[in-house]
Amino acid sequence: MKRRALLAALPASFAAGRALAQTWPSKPITIVVPFAAGGPTDLMARVVGERMAKELGQQFVIDNTTGAAGTIAVGKVARAAPDGYTISIGHVGTHVANGTIYRNLTYNLLTDLEPIARLPANPMLVVSSDQLRAATLKELVELLKANPDKIPGGTAGMGSGSHLGALAFFAATGARFQLVPYRGTGPAMQDLVANQIQVMVDQSANSLPQVRAGKIRAYAVTARARSAAAPEIPTAAEAGYPMEISIWHGLWAPKGTPPEIVARLNAAAIATFQDPDIRRRMEDLGQDIPTPTEMAPAAFAAFHKEEYARWAKILEAANVKVE
Ligand code: ASP
Repeated sequence: MKRRALLAALPASFAAGRALAQTWPSKPITIVVPFAAGGPTDLMARVVGERMAKELGQQFVIDNTTGAAGTIAVGKVARAAPDGYTISIGHVGTHVANGTIYRNLTYNLLTDLEPIARLPANPMLVVSSDQLRAATLKELVELLKANPDKIPGGTAGMGSGSHLGALAFFAATGARFQLVPYRGTGPAMQDLVANQIQVMVDQSANSLPQVRAGKIRAYAVTARARSAAAPEIPTAAEAGYPMEISIWHGLWAPKGTPPEIVARLNAAAIATFQDPDIRRRMEDLGQDIPTPTEMAPAAFAAFHKEEYARWAKILEAANVKVE
């Protein structure tokens, strides 16, 4: 577009954005979840959707678009109309690591999406089926080393949180398990409980309830300090293998969504995590809740960019790629 034409077009789209913002939201808002129902990202979407609906006086619809480690779901939102009715939920895997891992992405995670709000982060637990003959992290590492790439472990696909967790585990211990991809760690967890797979490095929000129910075994938490939600589980460092990884979630809109709408979505997300019942529920699953300042769109955009650069280095050094 020529410069003059561009200048002429700007006020029109600006005015259209303002008009849209005045009546928004006048129909349900869809949150596109890149993983299967029953997993940690789906859980976050349901918590957020239910509470944000109250704030905004409009229903939220959950759309689980699974496959290809979330790249299909994120692409769907990147190409959606920027009208505040379709938003993306995801995490450090789908919205950060995938940008480096998948060379053929048809969208740019940093420029085709508008950050709405940073959401809670949770550490991971190194867990196994209770049938596995390893009582401690050290015994697990020895067992895996004796059977490299043989013992099946679950992930939600290349670039998912559980895949990043597995890579961190491999780097910290020198042991490896076989990576079995699922459409989310919700279904992977069912198979872990049933001993169809035997290991997983999984978000505490997904694994802690099963550990508490005595259905799986937890060896370590991947954080600097033990979690207040499960102080009996040692840190990986205490167990002899220092590793730290935390999976943070976030919300994004398609690029070009009117700033007034982004601001209202952000305010509703902040209100969600100020709700004492939600805070208690999240903290009980080991979630760290960001402050309202950290949740602000500009602060979240800066954090997203930093994380993108940090993970690009890690993944390039490890040569993790899908052409
Ligand atoms: N967050 C994914 C899910 O909800 C799991 C993962 O990334 O490991 O299934």
